Amino acid sequence: MDISAAPPDYYDVVVIGGGLIGHGIAWEARRSGRTVALVDDAPGTGASWAAAGMLAPVSELHYQEEELLALMLEASGLWPEFAAGLAGGSDGSKTDGGGTGYLTTPTLAVGADAADRRALADLRAAQQACGLAVEPLTVREARNREPLLSPGISCAFDIPADHQVDPRRLLARIGSLLATDSGFTAVPRRAAGLLWQGGRVAGIRFEGGGELRAGETIVANGLAAAELQGLPGGLSLPLRPVYGDILRLRVPARLRPLLGSTVRGLVRGVPVYIVPREDGTVVIGATQREDAPSEASAVSAGGVYQLLRDAQQLLPAVAELELLEATARARPGTPDNAPLLGRVANAGSGQDVEGLIIATGFFRHGVLLTPVAAAICRALLDGQPDPRWAGFRPDRFSSRRPVSPAHDLSVRDASPADASAKDRTTA
Ligand SMILES: Cc1cc2nc3c(=O)[nH]c(=O)nc-3n(C[C@H](O)[C@H](O)[C@H](O)COP(=O)(O)OP(=O)(O)OC[C@H]3O[C@@H](n4cnc5c(N)ncnc54)[C@H](O)[C@@H]3O)c2cc1C
Repeated sequence: MDISAAPPDYYDVVVIGGGLIGHGIAWEARRSGRTVALVDDAPGTGASWAAAGMLAPVSELHYQEEELLALMLEASGLWPEFAAGLAGGSDGSKTDGGGTGYLTTPTLAVGADAADRRALADLRAAQQACGLAVEPLTVREARNREPLLSPGISCAFDIPADHQVDPRRLLARIGSLLATDSGFTAVPRRAAGLLWQGGRVAGIRFEGGGELRAGETIVANGLAAAELQGLPGGLSLPLRPVYGDILRLRVPARLRPLLGSTVRGLVRGVPVYIVPREDGTVVIGATQREDAPSEASAVSAGGVYQLLRDAQQLLPAVAELELLEATARARPGTPDNAPLLGRVANAGSGQDVEGLIIATGFFRHGVLLTPVAAAICRALLDGQPDPRWAGFRPDRFSSRRPVSPAHDLSVRDASPADASAKDRTTA
């Protein structure tokens, strides 16, 4: 259902933000039998539009991020069932993932020069120490699997557990399933802030006026989460944009299949990846820059050059592909690279603020983490939080635990917490 003029004025759950995280949460909340409204004036156009869709807990391991690794592994374990649920129960993993492009094809990590080989070998040692499967291949073995790889690569490692999905198709699939669901409403408007009543969050206020009441409000609008008015006083959501350029290319018929595996390379110390899709396209990504472009979606010429140059060094046939698209978006980064996910405490009572869940800051991993974010929110809605994920509480960076605004907010009634919200937008 898509209602812009006069939505019903109460839902069990309202989700602010229709990226992959918001869609996944809305989907899971509907599966629990709750009525759901998803509020976004431009759904699917944020970071989720750019993402490559690698489901890569092993390749994405970084030193001293063990807790995040546990979350990524949990997500990876949920993916087959999540994809099957979206496919209507069939196991689509060997074909097109039931319309989502979910594929259990493996990943190859390759290095360009001797220093890259040493760096990947060190990373493999760390991955193995965490119990992750990463097997060295000779260059000949790697080229037997992927004949178009350059004979000049310095090393190769097989990573069978890192898979992929097509984020745009995933968004479209969840969106189309929800659209025919009478318990779901897509509201194509922008949330201005939270609505408070009786010391708890009672829904949202819209930009331009109006409100929507809900039993639970889930803040899932990515980088813009900290801009919402009426966030609990004292709550700091230290989100920062980490821009990424990414390319989509078509493989000419004579070169298909270009690759059977996702290739993640290190070229003179700089990462690059090539993700082959079943439709004969590939995704090459991604830069990571923290500059301040004139527009959030401005593509860096230097970034495009670097991606094509490095991908071509690993896979010379890249030069023969047709460039379809260059896109840039900002990842919602946090100081510890982990999401801000869960309820927030009220300093006065020490209890969690009722009616409010935060789900943002998914940085480089939002596609992978979509099913686990949805599952964690479902458990919170059910009043059964999983203690394993308490370390991702959104108030972990707040100097003092949040308090509710001093008095109730309504459409016409702003509070001091409202006025200070803008100051928190930059971490
Ligand atoms: C180049 C690139 C490559 C990536 N590759 C991968 C990858 O391979 N694997 C992986 O796991 N992750 C990847 N990521 C990360 C992933 O894309 C993000 O972590 C994920 O998309 C975040 O999803 P989200 O729903 O939180 O945010 P977004 O997709 O940014 O969605 C936020 C939504 O909120 C809406 N919104 C904002 N403000 C409001 C408001 N006030 N009211 C209503 N709606 C609002 C916006 O319109 C938007 O639709 C990549 C990211 C980039 C940029």
